[in-house]
Amino acid sequence: EANVIPVMEKERGFLNSILIVMNDITELKRLERIRRDFVANVSHELKTPVAAISGFAETLMEEKGDNPENIREFSRIIYNEAQRLKNLIDELLELSRIEAGKMPTNMVEVDVDKLAQEAADIIKMRFPERQDDIAVKGEKGLVIKADREQLMRIMLNLLENAVHYSPPGSRIGVEVMREGEKVLLKVSDEGEGIPENEIPRVFERFYRVDKARSRKTGGTGLGLAIVKHLVENHKGEIRVESKPGKGSVFTVVLPVKPE
Ligand code: ADP
Repeated sequence: EANVIPVMEKERGFLNSILIVMNDITELKRLERIRRDFVANVSHELKTPVAAISGFAETLMEEKGDNPENIREFSRIIYNEAQRLKNLIDELLELSRIEAGKMPTNMVEVDVDKLAQEAADIIKMRFPERQDDIAVKGEKGLVIKADREQLMRIMLNLLENAVHYSPPGSRIGVEVMREGEKVLLKVSDEGEGIPENEIPRVFERFYRVDKARSRKTGGTGLGLAIVKHLVENHKGEIRVESKPGKGSVFTVVLPVKPE
């Protein structure tokens, strides 16, 4: 779409130039489509657990109470689905805060290797069966200016994914190193990997390589979208190398001093 605006010369009053304004509608259309898809996705993601909760609650109401095993099982499902709803709502709110630019950054000096160790310890506690699989290595005393909480969130999300998408007993590595004015944070696993053409898409909201798998792990499909925003908040970037069946490496590159 182009608007042609004749520009008149003030004094003599005749046309002496033309101003052409080009509006890039393709970009506007793309943004509109993304927004529409997002609303549709959110509705779908919210409806699924609500349907499960209503369905199982209804069955429980009909149950005469003579089968304690069913009652326990159905209550467990209802609880899990309610947790999924809660996670989804929390992450949606977080994402919208970040996207609205309302996520204040509290930049302080952060010891990256200590933080990586702490993140690994939290994940080991959450997944005791993977305790011996997770190892942290790298340079000691690497200090950068960053928002501690956000950096922790990045590490926890990447580590949680490594746990979810790799088999028990396989190794998960966290590595921190300095490269000039940058610090690299690597989280690697020996899991199922990501097909090359899907790598850029995993950062999209709600994109999952395997929907059923992600649902089973309790994933919302928003984790990496949040990670990407937080990394960009720090003027950093995130890279992925992955081979299906071999594993993945997520590398977060952060400037030591983001200005
Ligand atoms: P989810 O809640 O589904 O884990 P994420 O945004 O964290 O959502 O990740 C999006 C998708 O990217 C996942 O559903 C999964 O298909 C893929 N993915 C993320 N991390 C890994 C990994 N370490 N190995 C293999 N696939 C991964």
